[in-house]
Amino acid sequence: MSSNPDSHEREIERGTEILASSSRCATLDELATLADASVVAPSRPRVAAHVAACARCTAELALLREFESASPLPEEEEAVEWIVARLRGRFPETLVAAVKAGNAARAPRGHR
Ligand SMILES: [Zn+2]
Repeated sequence: MSSNPDSHEREIERGTEILASSSRCATLDELATLADASVVAPSRPRVAAHVAACARCTAELALLREFESASPLPEEEEAVEWIVARLRGRFPETLVAAVKAGNAARAPRGHR
């Protein structure tokens, strides 16, 4: 048993730590901020670097983008109608119109 601290072993330990943190998969939130260019996220460079090197995160990001560009499913549209109906009871008509306009603008470019 050596009494000298093994500096080489420490280096390896430190390297493993860095590797572990950089190979940590991005969370859905991190992927979402990466997909939305209008969001300012300090984590973006790290997440982007990870996604570029990780097939799993690349696939997740692609799925996320597809999901965000897709129009609502029939059952989702029902939920949207329900939310709009509730908004109508609480907020001025202009706000409800804005929500509906935003939803309609998304619809034509969907896959369904
Ligand atoms: Zn990953």
